[in-house]
Amino acid sequence: MTLRDLGFYLRGRVNRTVAQLVNVRRPAPALSLSLEELLRERRPSLLDRVRLLEGRSNAERQEMVARYLAARGLPFGRHPYATFEGSGENFSLDVGAGDSTLILIGHHDAVPGSPGANDDGSAVAILLGLAERLFNDPPRRLRVRVLFTGGEERGYLGARCYVKTAALERVLGVLSLELCGIGDALAVWDVLPPLERAPVLQTFVETLEGLGYRRDETYHVAGRIPVFGSDHRAFWASGIPAFGLTVVPAAEGEALRQFIFNPVRTALRQFVRRPAPFNTYHTSRDRSETLEPAALERTADALFALVHSL
Ligand SMILES: [Zn+2]
Repeated sequence: MTLRDLGFYLRGRVNRTVAQLVNVRRPAPALSLSLEELLRERRPSLLDRVRLLEGRSNAERQEMVARYLAARGLPFGRHPYATFEGSGENFSLDVGAGDSTLILIGHHDAVPGSPGANDDGSAVAILLGLAERLFNDPPRRLRVRVLFTGGEERGYLGARCYVKTAALERVLGVLSLELCGIGDALAVWDVLPPLERAPVLQTFVETLEGLGYRRDETYHVAGRIPVFGSDHRAFWASGIPAFGLTVVPAAEGEALRQFIFNPVRTALRQFVRRPAPFNTYHTSRDRSETLEPAALERTADALFALVHSL
């Protein structure tokens, strides 16, 4: 185990322990949607796809992703992993015929006691919908790999295991979707100085501006985020430009900046009011009722446009 792996492992332990402590008193369980109900809908919404995972155990959430992909006839690969840190399965599906690859990630696990709607059912739902859209309208110069990981809350365990075995040459970028269901502004984060000029980021910025987003108002490019993290960090050691992508309410911009960039205060504010979307993050209140369908659609549309611009 490398020092980096050890750091991720310990971070995962803290994450899950805090959630266990905070979520001891559980409210009524979230009412998840069955796969059969979802498949019966002619045009299931992204929010309905969130409800497929919501409130379920991690084993069930993982199974739902695989069953959904199979039922929709989407060809996917299974990547099981088992280490002393835990076991699970990542799922990947490729679409498009280009030489270079863009990897889009959503994690299917949730912390103990949280229904896991925004974290990270929102991302899984967006990527399930996007995968179907891309199969009908594939990019010609790009391969898109949609990756559904397990064990993100265990210090990016699934992603770390994936990175160790996957062929990652010609990967031009990685975006890990986290909390994409509340708000009207997109934030790309963990943009470290050497990665600021990465072509994938430049193209994403141009794509967003082409869609009418405005820098520092309706889209943000943020540096390294303390305390929080996501699966893209498992790709850092390989030198691939890898970022987080989150949706936030534009109106909470200043409160979010204060909250995110002051780790000490952030830690102390565990039990007091946090700005959305962190007011439900890792709590039993992370339910689909708190999500905004427009936020899910906005993210899916931006990624669809990015894929067709690269
Ligand atoms: Zn997450």
